[in-house]
Amino acid sequence: MSIGDRDVLLFDLDGVVYVGPNVVPGAREGILSAHQQGARCIFVTNNASRTASQIAVHLRELGIAAEEQDVVTSSMAGATLVSSFVSAGDVLAVGGEGVAAALRERGFNPVREYSDSVVAVMQGYGSNVGWSDLAEATFAVRAGVPWIATNLDSTFPSARGIAPGNGALVHVVAQTAGRGPNAVAGKPEPALLQEAIARTGALRPLMIGDRLDTDIAAGSRLGIPTLLVGTGVASLDEGRSARGEERPTYVAADLTCLLPNKAWDEVA
Ligand SMILES: [Mg+2]
Repeated sequence: MSIGDRDVLLFDLDGVVYVGPNVVPGAREGILSAHQQGARCIFVTNNASRTASQIAVHLRELGIAAEEQDVVTSSMAGATLVSSFVSAGDVLAVGGEGVAAALRERGFNPVREYSDSVVAVMQGYGSNVGWSDLAEATFAVRAGVPWIATNLDSTFPSARGIAPGNGALVHVVAQTAGRGPNAVAGKPEPALLQEAIARTGALRPLMIGDRLDTDIAAGSRLGIPTLLVGTGVASLDEGRSARGEERPTYVAADLTCLLPNKAWDEVA
């Protein structure tokens, strides 16, 4: 197996391209080589708070070539899910700027308060989300409008330690409203990767990630090959012994596996 067989590479970010403020060793060389071999490199993230443009700027600061159209977030996939329930109108936007921007891109009008004109709720991570935002979301959900969560990650890796992720705040609304979201965009659900494939027209994509329960599972659910790199959460041994949808197709120590003539270990 080599990169030449793949037209689009889908990269998870945290643990694959960067860890906190630092670029992962081998990521720059691997991604540069993938570009030189003609593969499209797309960066996919469950983090809904930042816009694609903001993430592309961050990647370029780390020395990785990326434009706005090379980034797909769970907000963008979430807005597509919203459009499968309602075609237009006011959508209660809970989360950071990425949530509102993705809704605008799909033609919706993001609002911060619930009223009768609200046709759906989209809830994603944002560091400024507070009680009043969760209360507005609860009013809307109890009124029966479709509720889309960008992702259900229960934790968020902050500079000062593990902090509540979007899933924890979704749980608050679910507990208060008496039901869960109608749909979820982020990994391990397939919508985020489907969004990236739809936007690029990928025919032979490969999902590259560091977590078995999100990155690898999402690729498996879509039926596309997956590559586990050992620079983040899961070890290569954990990848080799995983079963079911968490079993990767390939494992490699780091992204230098994308350099020409490097072999990827197929998980037998
Ligand atoms: Mg990751």
